[in-house]
Amino acid sequence: MSGLKDKFHRTIDYMRISITDRCNLRCVYCMPSDGIRPIEHKKILRYEEIVRILRIAATLGVEKIRITGGEPLVRKDISSLISMIKGIEGITDISLTTNGVLLEQYAEALAAAGLNRINISLDSLRPERYREITRGGDIHVVFRGIKAAEKAGLGPIKINMVPIRGFNSDEITDFAKMTMTSSYQIRFIEFMPFGKHNMWSPDKFISAEEIRAAVEGIGRLVSLPLKKSGPARHFQFEGAAGVIGFISPISNHFCAECNRLRLTADARLRPCLFSESEIDLKPALWRDATDEELERLIKLSIQIKPKGHNLRIQNAELRTLLNAKQDYMRPMSRIGG
Ligand code: SAM
Ligand code: SF4
Repeated sequence: MSGLKDKFHRTIDYMRISITDRCNLRCVYCMPSDGIRPIEHKKILRYEEIVRILRIAATLGVEKIRITGGEPLVRKDISSLISMIKGIEGITDISLTTNGVLLEQYAEALAAAGLNRINISLDSLRPERYREITRGGDIHVVFRGIKAAEKAGLGPIKINMVPIRGFNSDEITDFAKMTMTSSYQIRFIEFMPFGKHNMWSPDKFISAEEIRAAVEGIGRLVSLPLKKSGPARHFQFEGAAGVIGFISPISNHFCAECNRLRLTADARLRPCLFSESEIDLKPALWRDATDEELERLIKLSIQIKPKGHNLRIQNAELRTLLNAKQDYMRPMSRIGG
């Protein structure tokens, strides 16, 4: 099956599933220091429910799955979820985004369960600053987790970094340099405004173009072929072992190629990261709806996928709007980044 088309002729074949909104870190750009009141336990999708939804989605053409959160590795027995997903006909690729804190412990089991790939979020290479950004995280634990993931065969390792001006932007080149000798893929992601806690402001935002200019200050970048429906634009230093990706959801969004649908931990289908339009599957799940009813809701969520978002930061009026928006938007940890 080749994926369901939305109203704008985009093929939807990729689903990101947030399996929890809880986290073992408190990154300053994502969560308040005392965390966010977690979603009630009874509202969180059980693994069996996730698998049921995915099985139906797979019959509609969803092929690739990314598991995220909150921090997905804090949820109990995640390997069993991965092996259940692995068993779904039509799912060809399972990946996971993690802060890496529990990776040393789980990498091998995750790989054995069928996980194909992993993305690790790391916003500083300096132990003290990392501790500050994550409010207490130990970077050495993450480094060990990365090694464990490589050893378990979950490479090539992708590392996500969110550059924030005046905060960690002086490390952009340090991250880029890592690709000269290691096969890591370093992905720079533009800082996005989410939820009232996330400290976003136009002056802290750095566009992908500016990030790229900083990287080009240390070496010539060669463009790599465009990957179908992926948000990153890939480059490489000449002769380097690794790859550098730039993800620009704000300055140069990739809505026209967007192939994804999100499922939140509390059973909402969210067709666009930046739109609060969601389809809540809970009522249907709680009254034991048939697969046909769930299928109809999944199709509906694809039909309401907006053409694009309007988050451009050039214009002052929109900046005000963005700041206002932060008060009611779901935080990233609740949507699933
Ligand atoms: N806890 C896991 C982790 O940190 O990788 C998975 C969830 S986290 C919400 C997923 C990704 O979203 C991380 O790479 C994080 O850096 C990114 N993220 C969170 N808030 C963001 C923001 N405001 N702008 C850009 N990326 C953000
Ligand atoms: Fe947790 Fe990931 Fe948010 Fe950091 S970015 S607080 S690790 S959910």
